[in-house]
Amino acid sequence: MRIDVLTLFPEMFEGVFGSSILGKARDRGLVSLSTLNFRDFSTNKHHTVDDTPYGGGGGMVLKPEPIFGAVEHLLEQSGGERKPRVILMCPQGEPFTQRKAAELSEESHLIFICGHYEGYDERIREFLVTDELSIGDYVLTGGELPAMVVIDSVVRLLPGVLGNENSAVTDSFSDGLLEYPHYTRPPEFRGWTVPDVLLSGNHAEIGKWRRLQSLERTFVRRPELLEHAELAAKERQWLKDRRKQASEAEEEVHGG
Ligand code: SAM
Repeated sequence: MRIDVLTLFPEMFEGVFGSSILGKARDRGLVSLSTLNFRDFSTNKHHTVDDTPYGGGGGMVLKPEPIFGAVEHLLEQSGGERKPRVILMCPQGEPFTQRKAAELSEESHLIFICGHYEGYDERIREFLVTDELSIGDYVLTGGELPAMVVIDSVVRLLPGVLGNENSAVTDSFSDGLLEYPHYTRPPEFRGWTVPDVLLSGNHAEIGKWRRLQSLERTFVRRPELLEHAELAAKERQWLKDRRKQASEAEEEVHGG
């Protein structure tokens, strides 16, 4: 996979692209990670990339020419059969999810646009990008950190990137549920013990325990995820019983 990031702050990516899983994936040739400063595509002599908004008001707006110029430069270079996805990082965009990460990991070329200042000239949104992504309902100074978040989650899904192929499969959200709890040595720490089943060596029982823990944890922390998770008939019955139990406990607390 090839990934290009358009940014005014390419130095922000040096550590992230060179470290940990991303650094290893790059070293092993599983992904190419590059940055491009769209200031280099500014068409005026002061190399400005922003201007005041039409209609007045505070803040500066990113001009269309440098961003169109940089993306079109990359599109010309992109030899793949499939057109690159051009992704605008934006708090107003589609909320980023593990499902979206999996979808993007199927592509061969991704181009990320990192904004800054008040916003983008609307024509960038309308006529250049294929996707707009938000990493959450809060506002950051620029699109660099959000782009890093998305790139990390996409690259770790590429074949061969994670040492243990299973670890992405069991990660939270991959099957619509939160992941089960983990324990490691020692079996007893300050009097707190590891659940017996995990020490039993019985992998069928361990699998059952983990699935139940996953369901319980999702029920307690993110119950809305269970609406869309794929559940077996027995698990749907478990959920019904668990909901009943929770509402009875609630009634007891409130004296209902
Ligand atoms: N005025 C804009 C608004 O209200 O939607 C916010 C602009 S923000 C200060 C500057 C840039 O940071 C955005 O253009 C975007 O690239 C990036 N950004 C900030 N928060 C983000 C988020 N939650 N998800 C993705 N990108 C974000």
